[in-house]
Amino acid sequence: MIRLVVMLRAVYPGSFDPPTNGHLNIIERAAKICDELLVVIAVNINKEYFFSAEERLDMMTKSIGSIPNVSIHLWSKLIVDFVDQKNAKIIIRGVRALADFEHEFELSMINKALNPRVETIFLPTDPKYFVLRSSAIKELATIGGDFSEMVPEIVCKAINQKIGSS
Ligand code: ADP
Repeated sequence: MIRLVVMLRAVYPGSFDPPTNGHLNIIERAAKICDELLVVIAVNINKEYFFSAEERLDMMTKSIGSIPNVSIHLWSKLIVDFVDQKNAKIIIRGVRALADFEHEFELSMINKALNPRVETIFLPTDPKYFVLRSSAIKELATIGGDFSEMVPEIVCKAINQKIGSS
């Protein structure tokens, strides 16, 4: 009998501005169900970010540590093109509430139209991270709220440094 071994290579794209414990939870869980996980930090020239692409890359690299089947990339073009270039077939997206799902569902339809070969898989958030979003952390930080339990330590330091220097 001939056995065909298929490598499951998945892509997890996002702004990660900054990476949060919710993102890390999705990465850890996705890494367990696929052979290779490529985390893609989106660089959209039309979008204004709090952290630069290099800063987001650095924070993500340090936050993830060494999960052997996870790699991190910067990408400024269409995500489906990255998926194709890396010969992957799956995009992973995390969903929290129903409102997230609506947006994510539309996004997956757009990606499907752009490249029918690519499938999107949604991972529901861990309940611990249900209300966690990067925008809320930035808001909390600017008004002096405590966000230290919501992000990795390195991210917490980077936010405080950025706010302190602005
Ligand atoms: P976007 O890529 O839309 O700018 P983010 O960078 O914040 O958004 O998030 C990347 C992906 O991770 C999205 O699919 C988003 O829904 C998901 N995500 C963000 N925060 C959480 C969380 N707390 N739990 C689960 N998934 C999350």
